[in-house]
Amino acid sequence: MSTKKILVTPGDGIGPEVSEQAVQVLKNLAPRFGLQLELTEKPVGGAAYDLTGTPIPDETLEAARNSDAVLLGAVGGPKWESLDFSVRPERGLLKLRSELELYANLRPAVIYGDLVNASTLKPEVVDGADLMVVRELTGGIYFGQPRGVEVRNGERVGFNTLVYSESEIRRIAKVGFEIAMKRGKILTSVDKANVLESTELWREIVTEVGKDFPKVELSHMYADNAAMQIIRNPKQFDTMVTTNMFGDILSDAAAMMTGSLGMLPSASIGGNIGMYEPVHGSAPDISGQDKANPLAMILSVGMMLRYSFDLGEADEIVKQAVVKTLETYRTGDIMAEGKTLIGCQEMGERVLQFLEQE
Ligand code: NAD
Repeated sequence: MSTKKILVTPGDGIGPEVSEQAVQVLKNLAPRFGLQLELTEKPVGGAAYDLTGTPIPDETLEAARNSDAVLLGAVGGPKWESLDFSVRPERGLLKLRSELELYANLRPAVIYGDLVNASTLKPEVVDGADLMVVRELTGGIYFGQPRGVEVRNGERVGFNTLVYSESEIRRIAKVGFEIAMKRGKILTSVDKANVLESTELWREIVTEVGKDFPKVELSHMYADNAAMQIIRNPKQFDTMVTTNMFGDILSDAAAMMTGSLGMLPSASIGGNIGMYEPVHGSAPDISGQDKANPLAMILSVGMMLRYSFDLGEADEIVKQAVVKTLETYRTGDIMAEGKTLIGCQEMGERVLQFLEQE
């Protein structure tokens, strides 16, 4: 048995409800794969602010640094919207990401079984699509200096800087190739090398890193074409690696193939400790009503098992259980004719039931 320390930070709104179901899945799978879990729960976001006056108390940060992986629910809500920017719930999340040096964000877009009909795209276009977007998370135009708004020649000018160092590109490219190796061994690097020098360098470095991964088929695509191709024929992609801003936009476009926020897991990796969380927020409109879809959070547990503990097989079992659950049961956000409407807790229980059959 190998011991794994997991920090659970349920957060706000529906965060605690979906976390509870995800933790059950983790507890069910761990012993099957020889893992002994040491679970610790700490507050983050608005819940942490209410308790301690800060959205990320030192003891939460300390527990994160001492863990093997972090499972985070969601943060934020109307109750904390009027707070000063420095203590807003979202600051807690950003601080955790930067403390753990999570420079790579993994956002899979997968169609689970007959959820194909929930997509706004034609079923034949999305059926079988399975794309992983690897987005650079801590650099690029969102962080580059100089930035700001100032008066020049009598009018206001807004400016940001798209900057990437060789080492920043090299490390995210490496993650892209490593993820591609664990998937279909096809990597598309997305840039705008025709007009942006910084992404010309991006293309050069990605190509160089590719020499260490001869089994991965690498191609390059301009960001505008990539946006078009995701909508036109998403099945052509396996793994995509791209800059912070292009990844932000393209991962949302790709995610929408799947039809619902409640189905989207994510992983942030890079440092020694990975953080796993659903893409959705705290959904204050449905919180405390047992209406939340816990599948995004449950699928995030699958990603933790795959990417932090190298248990791809366990991730596959989670996905299979989710597909089987969806054949009969649905939460409100993905409800369809002929299916049985259930709540968050029962959805978790049904997944567990199918897990035991896998
Ligand atoms: P949201 O993702 O919380 O909700 C958007 C819509 O999707 C809502 O109608 C909600 O009911 C629905 N929804 C979301 N997740 C669902 C689920 N699992 N099951 C069923 N329905 C689901 O986004 P929002 O309303 O823009 O933001 C609410 C709060 O969450 C804000 O404070 C925002 O800052 C925060 N937020 C946090 C994160 C995060 O923690 N990573 C991400 C996005 C937003």
